[in-house]
Amino acid sequence: MTRLYSFILLWVLSMFLIGSEASAEDLVVSSDFPGGSAEVIQVDQKQRTILIRPAGDPQFGWPCWWYFQVTGVTPGEELTVTVDASQLKQANGQKLSASWALPEQAAFSTDQRRWAQTRPGKKQGENCEWKVKPDAKVVWFAWGPPFVPTDAEQLVKRLSQKHANVTEFELCKTRAGRRVPALVVSPVGEKDNSRLAVWVQARQHAWESGGSWVGRGFIEWAVSDHPQAVALREKADIYYIPIMDIDNVATGNGGKNQVPHDHNRDWSEHPRWNAVQAAMKSLKQLDQQNRLVMFMDLHNPGPNSKQPYFYIAPPELNTERRKALQDAFIAVCREEMREPLKLDRSTPSTGPKYDKRWKEISSNWVRSATREHVIGITLETCWNTPHSNTNGYMTVGQQLGLGIARYLQQDPRQSPKQK
Ligand SMILES: [Zn+2]
Repeated sequence: MTRLYSFILLWVLSMFLIGSEASAEDLVVSSDFPGGSAEVIQVDQKQRTILIRPAGDPQFGWPCWWYFQVTGVTPGEELTVTVDASQLKQANGQKLSASWALPEQAAFSTDQRRWAQTRPGKKQGENCEWKVKPDAKVVWFAWGPPFVPTDAEQLVKRLSQKHANVTEFELCKTRAGRRVPALVVSPVGEKDNSRLAVWVQARQHAWESGGSWVGRGFIEWAVSDHPQAVALREKADIYYIPIMDIDNVATGNGGKNQVPHDHNRDWSEHPRWNAVQAAMKSLKQLDQQNRLVMFMDLHNPGPNSKQPYFYIAPPELNTERRKALQDAFIAVCREEMREPLKLDRSTPSTGPKYDKRWKEISSNWVRSATREHVIGITLETCWNTPHSNTNGYMTVGQQLGLGIARYLQQDPRQSPKQK
């Protein structure tokens, strides 16, 4: 190559590089949308790094949730996202452990619909840093796959439009006036007051978005053509509430331990939260009709859990028969929940030592306020594993459906057969 040619080549190359540098847009971080939560600490436009803190107000629950949008991304470039969780506080001013806000793998999406997991992040003290090369100009990052009020609304609408036996309804309006969407699966035509009733709800704790994904997996399975789902629908009506604490999900707050108490410490004679009040009323009515057989409350547990598990009845609320039914249910769930998330053998309970408001926990209220054969139970699905993504969660939901269907092959209202 001649000297002139190399010179021209170098010149063209450098112009190209300068040009591409100039065309890199500024990264802009925003959380001003439903479910969003981030306090932007620093955006380095040269290094393409973003540093945020979760922005939830501790009065509205543990501020472990975060979710934000980044615009100005050059498709294919590497972004570094760091979450500083060193300042997390509870409503009483006490520190909240950073680990609640720092999943090993965060969630990201380029369309707010399909959510992928990042590669494992690098923890440094109470910070964690994740690197992502999104192939789009806009990308969203979150603690876990978000599931916000519009997702709940669209899900119940879509299923009710697609299936004649699915009816959407409004459980209630919240204290802030938001709709709490719900649905019931029940055969078209005359009401039959001898049918069983199953109740599945998620998100009494707003930040635990995985619960809603487990719930979605369950309900999509329950209305499907799977023979066990068909068999379940032949005998049982299915009530489903995708998000109980709509207000805190909408505002990006954590919900857990909010002031004066959260949804899952509210199942008392005078519930504060409208969704709890409405759920209690319906459950009471179903039980009076001797139809209720299953109450399922979906949650995400602490950061160190690596397997899903059930919270079972504490000894104070257990009887021989209740225990036998609960054992039978967990046994079939254990057979179904093997892959990718295996049901843990450990079954803790929420008795007086767990919380001073233990009686106001939903499943404990169900255990004490309804008939002995009603299973009231909490499923905690781990959020800090390589399978704690939308697919993994929804698979747990399907498997839960299979467990419920198999358990209800025998009507638990009839007294147990002598062996
Ligand atoms: Zn919870």
